[in-house]
Amino acid sequence: MSAYDFLICGSGIAGASIACELAAHARVLVVEREDRHGHHTTGRSAAMFIESYGNAWVRRLTLAGRGFFDAPPVGFSDYPLLTRRGCLTIAALDQLPALDAHSAEIAATGSEMREVSGEAARAMVPVLRAGAVVRAVFEPNACDIDTNALHTGYLRLARARGADFRLNAGVEGIERAGSGWRVRLADGDTIETAAIVNAAGAWCDQIAALAGAAPLGLQPLRRTAILIDPPAQANLAAWPTVIDVDEQFYFKPESGRLLASPADETPSAPVDAAPDELDIAICVDRIQAVADLPVRRIQRAWAGLRTFAPDRTPVYGYDPVAEGLFWFAGQGGYGMQTAPAAARLGAALALGRSLPADLADRGLRAEPFSPARFRA
Ligand SMILES: Cc1cc2nc3c(=O)[nH]c(=O)nc-3n(C[C@H](O)[C@H](O)[C@H](O)COP(=O)(O)OP(=O)(O)OC[C@H]3O[C@@H](n4cnc5c(N)ncnc54)[C@H](O)[C@@H]3O)c2cc1C
Repeated sequence: MSAYDFLICGSGIAGASIACELAAHARVLVVEREDRHGHHTTGRSAAMFIESYGNAWVRRLTLAGRGFFDAPPVGFSDYPLLTRRGCLTIAALDQLPALDAHSAEIAATGSEMREVSGEAARAMVPVLRAGAVVRAVFEPNACDIDTNALHTGYLRLARARGADFRLNAGVEGIERAGSGWRVRLADGDTIETAAIVNAAGAWCDQIAALAGAAPLGLQPLRRTAILIDPPAQANLAAWPTVIDVDEQFYFKPESGRLLASPADETPSAPVDAAPDELDIAICVDRIQAVADLPVRRIQRAWAGLRTFAPDRTPVYGYDPVAEGLFWFAGQGGYGMQTAPAAARLGAALALGRSLPADLADRGLRAEPFSPARFRA
């Protein structure tokens, strides 16, 4: 008999959240290569919750998880997981067709939004330049996520439900053991498990290769973020997140400073990502083109890998060939805001159960997320 029903590879938000959902029903071990949880992408996000972000399947996941964010299980977090911020998507004259398409898409999801004039946008964020913003769309329900509270809440509840965790325990080898798997860890130990949950973020294709499965073509894309001082006397707390309609940049208040990103998507190998000086310069250039924001010093800069499947829809489901290898991958740029619904959907699929009714009511199904869609 296997020691565990599920060995989960990776303890970022993906691994932590599905561990929590699975541990209520099964014996779970989470193994993490690093010496702490959340060292890679999970610890580097911009912490935005925007209902209109991502493709149609990502939006459904985000909307389906809102209830969890607003009312997490008792004891999950001492702090609210969401703080309302609002999101202002801005457009210059030549971007108005893109803005119209964007508002039509939001309207189709039923999310609350309103169109605002350039003047009204500047009343919200006074540093915006007149010529740079002709019209905008405001989404009042967009929030900041307390990503640390979300991640640690999942880790804590998973432990309380009986999940085991091991740090400094990278997966180094995977072989068949009967109908399950034998997994060799960096500390020399071997673990027998009925199934493996591949939640290794940028490394998911590599984990699959260890198990003899074909890669899905997941692509890690580097994204840069910087923290800068806000202009003097700015009423920063009242500013919404500001995003360019073509997603060429965004900026938002963050702990008394401004977080800005050039929204870069530079293909990368799975590595410990570091910011590139050129991307930092591009970021400053792009935000200064639309906003009167003097940048005297970069307080902090970082980069992380957002990993996407070829169709930019996350991948949840058993590999159609390598039996007992469950993909929980391709969280892209939305892994924090999609986590609650994704974890419940993923756990149902991993356990072979039908989808929770509230997720099905949102139009969520197994097929759009299945890895089988890449196995022609
Ligand atoms: C700049 C930036 C801004 C972002 N902004 C947002 C946002 O506003 N909202 C949002 O929802 N999302 C955002 N994201 C995306 C979000 O952060 C990711 O979707 C999410 O963190 C991915 O989580 P993960 O658990 O899949 O990956 P990771 O956090 O990278 O976790 C994977 C883990 O697997 C481990 N691992 C790898 N190989 C092995 C192995 N062999 N053995 C054991 N463990 C292994 C790694 O060490 C790592 O800890 C942003 C990302 C970036 C970079």
